[in-house]
Amino acid sequence: MEDFDYNHSRTELHFGRGRREDVGDVTAAYGDEAHLVTTRSAMQESGVLDDVVESLEEADVSSSVFDDVDPNPTLKTVVGCVEASDDPEVVVALGGGSVLDTAKTAALSIAAFGGTPTKEQVWDYASGDLSVDVAAPVVAVPSTSGTGSHVDPWAVVTNEEETAKVGFGGRPLVPVEAVVDPEIAMHMPPELAARTGFDAFCHLNEAFVSTRNDPVTDALALRGVEEVGNHLSDSVEGDSHARDEMTVVDTLGGFCETTAGVIATHALAHGVGAFHPEVAHGDALAAVAAEVVDYNVENGDDETKRRYGMLAERLGAPVADRKLDAPLAGDAFRELMEDVGVATSLSELGVKEAEIESIAANAAVYMGPAIRANPTEIEKDDLVSVLEKAY
Ligand code: NDP
Ligand code: MN
Repeated sequence: MEDFDYNHSRTELHFGRGRREDVGDVTAAYGDEAHLVTTRSAMQESGVLDDVVESLEEADVSSSVFDDVDPNPTLKTVVGCVEASDDPEVVVALGGGSVLDTAKTAALSIAAFGGTPTKEQVWDYASGDLSVDVAAPVVAVPSTSGTGSHVDPWAVVTNEEETAKVGFGGRPLVPVEAVVDPEIAMHMPPELAARTGFDAFCHLNEAFVSTRNDPVTDALALRGVEEVGNHLSDSVEGDSHARDEMTVVDTLGGFCETTAGVIATHALAHGVGAFHPEVAHGDALAAVAAEVVDYNVENGDDETKRRYGMLAERLGAPVADRKLDAPLAGDAFRELMEDVGVATSLSELGVKEAEIESIAANAAVYMGPAIRANPTEIEKDDLVSVLEKAY
């Protein structure tokens, strides 16, 4: 066996229906002045925000609130979030990945940059030119089941000046606590459950084939992929047991993307997101996922093929020989996508054919680590041809 290091998340996890009631007590351990970051309307309309505010009040935690997080947040969103805070001791994030990532970056800015960050500070941190080892503690309460952001060290923030959707992070960005209450996820409409569930599926299947994989990640990823096969479709239809299970899948995905990272699929989806901020992350992934699988199976070594065979098997494909049957993986992905109703092509997302070159170049420049973690070499021209097939 090759040597490996496994640094699991340091997030304390609290799972269970109704556990949003515990947010106050969990938060109070970090201070009595919180900054609460949440959705624009979803958590308000569902009554979940009121429950969380009440829980904070009962625990004697006062809070400022920021509720203007646009999907696929930009640096402006993060700045707005910090400016709405008043030197908090702890940041509570109640929402989807956009809220979590905004809150995490705001918490970093508050502790490391003393408040409103400059663009140089954030982008130098993102590029690795500026090293930071502190952030205000974050208590994450995910409302979607997809990004894994409640247990991972990443944030995704769009740099509008450079048309780049940048994923970055490090140890300080790992939330200290996460309260995972499946009743919150029950409020997701079917399309959101589908897209976010597909995002979790990608964290799992990409980590499993990543060049950075390890035996512990493998075990979590395979278990997660199997649960996606068992439950994603029912979750989309609103089945409550399946929604519960998808909160676990989301968390496993967060662990896997932490340790093994993501591959060309996420790189291309970020390229799409940079030019089309209106496209949901899960749809951008779905549009390119099967074509990345096909490319990797065709060009991969035996081990890569064997791994895709295992993924196909977990999704229920009739795999007799994992290596020889690896080509079944792409179709197993397509079947899942059709079953749950996520995007299957770039054209249906409004991407223009003329943008393909720029999307590929953007992915290659801004998502280098994901490109390098792809199990087969994939150069810019290859990215172009994958995008053309996904069009
Ligand atoms: P978003 O957080 O972008 O939310 C999308 C929409 O869903 C919003 O309109 C929001 O409401 C609504 N919403 C959220 N929760 C619920 C709910 N329970 N019921 C009803 N509506 C709800 O979606 P995602 O969770 O998919 O996050 C995507 C972002 O996360 C992207 O920027 C992506 O790049 C990033 N990401 C981060 C990762 C990480 O590791 N940090 C990994 C993968 C993706 P409203 O309009 O009211 O605000
Ligand atoms: Mn993702």
